[in-house]
Amino acid sequence: MRFTFVTLFPQLIEGYFSASILGRAIEEEKLSIDFRNPREYTKDKFNRVDAPMIGGGAGMLMTPQPLMDTLDTLKATSPDAHIIFLTPVAKRFTQNDAKRLAKKSHIVLVSGRYEGIDERVIEAQADEVFSIGDYILTGGELASMVLCDAISRNVEGVLGNSESLQVESFEAPLLEAPSFTKPTVYEENAVVSEFLKGNHSKITDLKRGLALCKTKYFRPDLYKKGITDEK
Ligand code: SAM
Repeated sequence: MRFTFVTLFPQLIEGYFSASILGRAIEEEKLSIDFRNPREYTKDKFNRVDAPMIGGGAGMLMTPQPLMDTLDTLKATSPDAHIIFLTPVAKRFTQNDAKRLAKKSHIVLVSGRYEGIDERVIEAQADEVFSIGDYILTGGELASMVLCDAISRNVEGVLGNSESLQVESFEAPLLEAPSFTKPTVYEENAVVSEFLKGNHSKITDLKRGLALCKTKYFRPDLYKKGITDEK
């Protein structure tokens, strides 16, 4: 699967995908990542990509031409490219979106900067728009990386053990049960003794009970949905 980041600051993103699980997936060609910088497409004689807002308002906006040309050039060589703009005003990105988007062959993630992007570009080019939460970041790069990371985990072959996806939080749609590792006793705190006895069906039941408790405590909204879905 291919991801293209459209950003004025590719250097903010590059390092994140050079190590760990996603770095390995890139090495093994399960994922590929490339960048397009709208500044390289600007026709402005001073290389500008931003301008003051028409009608007034504080700050600058990204102008249409560099972004339109960047995206049109991309689409000319990749007609299946699915273009996503990151913006705080959109609906919140969820795990279900991550799973659905993992089936696409090419995703383009467009990051805004300054006070954002001229709305005409979004209207003309966006297949989807997403926010990562109700707060304002200085640019879309972090949000793009969040989407890319969450989607990539669901691409076949990226995680060493795909079973781990099935018990992760937001499946079922409960949170994952509390997890423990060695040592079995740490500073007088022992792990739940049933986990040590090797009875897998009892462990599964226990984990389910603990997942329900955790979800009820931290995310009563999900708990209610999980119980309703089961009926
Ligand atoms: N003036 C805009 C507003 O009030 O809606 C905020 C612009 S923000 C400073 C600059 C860029 O950061 C946006 O164009 C978007 O790409 C990105 N961004 C900021 N917060 C975001 C969020 N919560 N989710 C996704 N992208 C975000």
